[in-house]
Amino acid sequence: MREIYLDNNATTPVRKEVLDAMMPYLKDEYGNASSVHLKGQKARKAVEASREVIGETIGTEPVDVIFTSGGTESDNFAIKGVAMANLDKGRHVITTQIEHSAVLESCRFIEEELGFEVTYLPVDKYGVVDLDRLKSAIRKDTVLVSIMFANNEIGTLQPIKEIARIAKKNGVYFHTDAVQALGKEPIDVEELGVDMCSFSAHKLNGPKGVGALYLRKGVKILPFQTGGYHERRKRAGTLNVPGIVGFAKALEIAKNDMKKNNKHMNKLSKKLLSGLEKQLDEIYLNGHPENRLSNTLNISFRYIEGESLILNFDMKGIFASTGSACTSGSLEPSHVLTAIGAPPDRSQGSIRFSFGYENTEDEVDYCLAEIPPIVKRLRAMSPLC
Ligand SMILES: *Cc1c(COP(=O)(O)O)cnc(C)c1O
Repeated sequence: MREIYLDNNATTPVRKEVLDAMMPYLKDEYGNASSVHLKGQKARKAVEASREVIGETIGTEPVDVIFTSGGTESDNFAIKGVAMANLDKGRHVITTQIEHSAVLESCRFIEEELGFEVTYLPVDKYGVVDLDRLKSAIRKDTVLVSIMFANNEIGTLQPIKEIARIAKKNGVYFHTDAVQALGKEPIDVEELGVDMCSFSAHKLNGPKGVGALYLRKGVKILPFQTGGYHERRKRAGTLNVPGIVGFAKALEIAKNDMKKNNKHMNKLSKKLLSGLEKQLDEIYLNGHPENRLSNTLNISFRYIEGESLILNFDMKGIFASTGSACTSGSLEPSHVLTAIGAPPDRSQGSIRFSFGYENTEDEVDYCLAEIPPIVKRLRAMSPLC
């Protein structure tokens, strides 16, 4: 059976060039980057060359790039680390209702364990934060604003530069979870004016379990892990040398191919949407119509449940995901779709198709042949219709 992978916002395949770049560091050059002997120094050299590639790509010096185990750790590090280091300034943090769970749960943690107050800003029907609401949410005791660059469920992009300006003017640190944006949108941390930025390699055809936090010099933050003298003493632990090398390679390629890939994925997502709209009634695009990631297409198929759609797609070899998390049998609507004001009949039948550079028009044709009959059949059986 064909396999059509349309879940690239969950993770992506490691590309061949990336694997080739990693291989020597999994095999012969296995040294610990902290060792002083030649074997260690070869590993160290590879790490520092990778740090340079990543720093240059995001418009900063290599020293500002701290390697982590991925997006989740980078988000935890930024939020908990800044919260704990700035208790004397205050215990208030601002974020949004549509963040990734790595940010939301870090915010809940500092509320419950450190006595912080967190403001969860609402978003408009496209998933965009209101800058005036942000301005009025900032207080004397606010230490951090954390707002994602691009939403992983609906693809909506935020006005990051404007948010950074507001945070800076008020003397508040600004962190952005840019995990979905890296490799798909240009990111220049200096031009944007952000203080911290989370990245993960496996969302851009790199390996899993490696990522980075951009950390502007002078940000008051506690180390996330303590131990040896790694990463400016901000994140102890033996460096994941092959992972770091793979991350840099993946980013280098993604940056070079960004325009071409975005054009291609935009074409595919437009083709899928318009093809489905031609064949089906009552479908609805979630998220911003233009100001969005080109690869992300979140569609509500009204009157059916996302979970049953996913299972039926799966049987045809089409791998997508729901916008909604299924918690122990009860279908809870996605917090993102709820925040953009989608009524339950729209949020329940929502599917996220997320393209990668490898997807083809032929695959979209296959989806356009297979999906409409599934939707029609499920609707015919649905008590919601
Ligand atoms: C995937 C993702 C994360 C988590 O990154 P991991 O490397 O899988 O831990 C965080 N934020 C966003 C927006 C994501 O899409």
